[in-house]
Amino acid sequence: MFQLKNYINGELCTPDTGEYLDNYEPSTGKVYAQIPNSGQTDVQKAVAAAEKAFPAWSMMPVEKRSAILGKISALILENLDRLAAAESKDNGKPVWLAKQVDIPRAAKNFHFYATAILHFGSEANAMTNKAINYTLRDPLGVVACISPWNLPLYLFSWKIAPALAAGNCVVAKPSEVTPMTAYLLSELCIEAGLPAGVLNIVHGLGTHAGAAMTTHPKVKAVSFTGGTQTGATIAKLAAPMFKKLSLELGGKNPNIIFADCDYDKMLSTTLRSSFANQGQICLCGSRIFVERPIYEKFKKDFVQKAALLKVGDPKASDTKIGAVVSKPHQEKILSYIELAKEEGGTILLGGQQAKVGGECTEGYFVQPTIIEGLAHDCRTNQEEIFGPVVTIMPFDTEDEVLEYANSVRYGLSATVWTTNLNRATQFSQKLESGIVWVNCWLLRDLRTPFGGVKDSGVGREGGFEVLRFFTEPKNICIEY
Ligand code: NAD
Repeated sequence: MFQLKNYINGELCTPDTGEYLDNYEPSTGKVYAQIPNSGQTDVQKAVAAAEKAFPAWSMMPVEKRSAILGKISALILENLDRLAAAESKDNGKPVWLAKQVDIPRAAKNFHFYATAILHFGSEANAMTNKAINYTLRDPLGVVACISPWNLPLYLFSWKIAPALAAGNCVVAKPSEVTPMTAYLLSELCIEAGLPAGVLNIVHGLGTHAGAAMTTHPKVKAVSFTGGTQTGATIAKLAAPMFKKLSLELGGKNPNIIFADCDYDKMLSTTLRSSFANQGQICLCGSRIFVERPIYEKFKKDFVQKAALLKVGDPKASDTKIGAVVSKPHQEKILSYIELAKEEGGTILLGGQQAKVGGECTEGYFVQPTIIEGLAHDCRTNQEEIFGPVVTIMPFDTEDEVLEYANSVRYGLSATVWTTNLNRATQFSQKLESGIVWVNCWLLRDLRTPFGGVKDSGVGREGGFEVLRFFTEPKNICIEY
């Protein structure tokens, strides 16, 4: 059985604990690799290596740092097919999706921050005829980056690239559910000539390796993406140690469709925003509110189109919906469908485990599921399901749908469909959400701030925002 290794101080190594965890292939339900179940001493070694590497890395001319990150980006693209196949096998997503989205985006993350850092400046504030203030932005030192399983390499690199670009050394942990591409990244970092200790990847459980990172006294900041409950646990442990925290957490995003929308574009995009990546994108719109005059038409067309989405082997090019990430996650999704029924919902489509034959017989598949007839404030509409399950609900007025949209504890993203410009601008402003997409979905410009409000998180990633997070401002005031 293939055993992954940790990447510490520039070398691939076995965990000090000597323990391993099984790594499952979601589409077959079989164990296909083992990952280190690292503990405190592995993390201590990683932090020590990062500390040792920090002076040289942070003092390296920024052009040189940029060139190394650019090389990592190029190597990711050179290995596109291999990485996409690995991501699909590890996560259950269709290979074509990993090839079109996940892996190119991981390369782009490195490329973007390799170049962004060349343009990152800091402020100067003159006090006329008196003094000049200038603000230095120094890297923090050793920082921790912890990521989830839904977009494994995409989100892992989204944190690591800016942290490294800003001159920090990193101790990172991918999700134990999808560790493979992070492991392959460590091989590419060695090939790219990243100096030893600058990036350290420690595999294992959140409660062991993850907790050891977030509570290590030498770790100055924690950049975390994952569930809201985990974010709260990390905040509780790290905040009293005065670590900087960036928390990108769960969502329950509204998709608000007004009758005056561009209907065809809305319909095809809503299909994606509901079911892409098996609905396991934090930005998926799982609560669909439709203005009453077009509700019945939308319901018929949406169900008809969703019924054509092929659930199948992630390796097949015509598969639209692959496996969900794990058995426990499949069970969680199915339990929410049962809850929806108990709460009085009608299943318009799906509602069950999907059966895929051949070598996928034991895989974790869920049919795309559409539910109607639920109140906006029932548990199904309030709690994050994170699977191919959406609810549809009619509305009559803007005020009413605004209340529905904002009624959840989350506030990550929202989608609004309307051709009325005044409504689009005014309504978007009132949504309690870090990101609003109008007449589009998941259209990403990496320069823009990314993150949520309420229980969807604290802080923003993306653009220069994250470079500010990964640096410490120091103001120097000189009186003439
Ligand atoms: P999770 O919170 O279970 O795990 C995320 C990561 O945290 C994993 O690497 C895990 O090992 C680690 N972890 C767990 N407990 C820890 C602890 N006590 N200390 C330190 N690390 C710990 O989340 P998940 O199930 O992997 O991912 C799904 C969740 O992520 C969903 O809620 C989804 O909405 C959210 N998500 C949010 C965004 C965003 O940008 N806001 C993006 C993707 C996913």
